[in-house]
Amino acid sequence: MGNETVAKTVVVLGAGVGGLTTATRLRGMLPEQDRIVLVDRSFDGVLGLSLLWVMRGWRTADQVHVRPKPLPGIDMRAAEVRSIDTDNRHVHTDSGSIAYDALVIALGAGLAPDRVPGLSDVTEAGIAGEFYTLDGADLLHRQLSEVDSGRITFVVAGVPFKCPAAPFEGALLAADLLGELGVRGSVTVDAFTPDPFPMPVAGPAVGKALVGMLEQHGIGFHPGKSLELVDARAKQLTFADGTREPFDFLVVVPPHQAPAPVRETRLGPMGWIPVDPRTLASDVPGVWALGDCSALMLPNGKPLPKAAVFAEGESEVVANGVARHLGYDAPEPYFDGNGSCYVEIGGHLAAKGVGNFLEAPAPSVTLMDPSPEFHREKQDEERAWMERWSG
Ligand SMILES: Cc1cc2nc3c(=O)[nH]c(=O)nc-3n(C[C@H](O)[C@H](O)[C@H](O)COP(=O)(O)OP(=O)(O)OC[C@H]3O[C@@H](n4cnc5c(N)ncnc54)[C@H](O)[C@@H]3O)c2cc1C
Repeated sequence: MGNETVAKTVVVLGAGVGGLTTATRLRGMLPEQDRIVLVDRSFDGVLGLSLLWVMRGWRTADQVHVRPKPLPGIDMRAAEVRSIDTDNRHVHTDSGSIAYDALVIALGAGLAPDRVPGLSDVTEAGIAGEFYTLDGADLLHRQLSEVDSGRITFVVAGVPFKCPAAPFEGALLAADLLGELGVRGSVTVDAFTPDPFPMPVAGPAVGKALVGMLEQHGIGFHPGKSLELVDARAKQLTFADGTREPFDFLVVVPPHQAPAPVRETRLGPMGWIPVDPRTLASDVPGVWALGDCSALMLPNGKPLPKAAVFAEGESEVVANGVARHLGYDAPEPYFDGNGSCYVEIGGHLAAKGVGNFLEAPAPSVTLMDPSPEFHREKQDEERAWMERWSG
């Protein structure tokens, strides 16, 4: 390895799936003298898949925190990232500024519930909930456990959103919970999405299979529905096509937005950071983005789904790119686009989708039938992740 004399600093922003894996991979690749600074506002995260189980009641909130133990050779800074100055290669936080030689942005995706008029009113009235945060999933479990009649609507309030299967898994697991509570017969469950079918990135065959699973469990599927307004008094949803739908309880996937410092730095037109699909390099030399805050465009013109499986896969590519940028020998960065995901359908069963998302002209994804084995694989994934970081 060349370039040993001048110590370098790599700053990794965000200690979620992408940031933790990139920082630890880099620590294994760079000489000791090079600093790796990992910045996160809390170092207290949660795996997305655990949120669904908290909502279902198979986990408590206390069981699913991911609080990383000290990572040898990594300077872990608990701080709020305020802004990123790519001209002067500095990150500004609420507890000081950090200069970098290479920067990795893995700040995830934020939620913007205020973008839906009326949503805060129904939430305050206790007739709406969400499972995209740990507190939300925990509360939603209690709220769903009290429902004994009426109509529950699961609504995707904007695209893109994390984990394309999650809203439908949520509806299936809620139906499963209501069945266990003995009230499923008196509660109607419906799912609404702006997309033409679930998980459109995986193609119509996968979408059709998922609609079939919803129908099998008595869940109504309503495509092409962009939520415009929620009326708390009338308990009514208004969609962009002018249709209105009544509800007794609303479960919403809130609109997502890129994290504030990323939006403000204007690294990407919509806030999400455009990256090279094979290297994850941004348009700014020395800056990489991965995971939910990046916009990796596929050959079919759709963005790569926001999923942990991709954030983790991308971390190896980013680590290689950073090491080479700093002048070290490392494999050529190459993201292969392979990924898999599980779709919980209730009854401790999960389907599994496997495919290559970078294939041209469109991703090739196969959905395998639900089985207890796939559910167990997902449990193993959760356990491995918790053990890896929390010890
Ligand atoms: C309900 C649900 C189910 C899911 N199921 C699956 C699944 O089955 N399989 C799958 O692959 N994916 C799943 N996902 C998606 C997965 O959780 C995300 O794609 C993944 O966590 C993205 O990793 P990331 O590193 O990009 O972001 P994150 O893991 O969200 O990490 C971002 C980090 O940045 C920090 N941060 C943000 N802003 C700041 C700031 N200004 N200053 C300091 N720190 C900041 C946060 O604290 C956080 O630790 C699911 C998501 C949800 C919500």
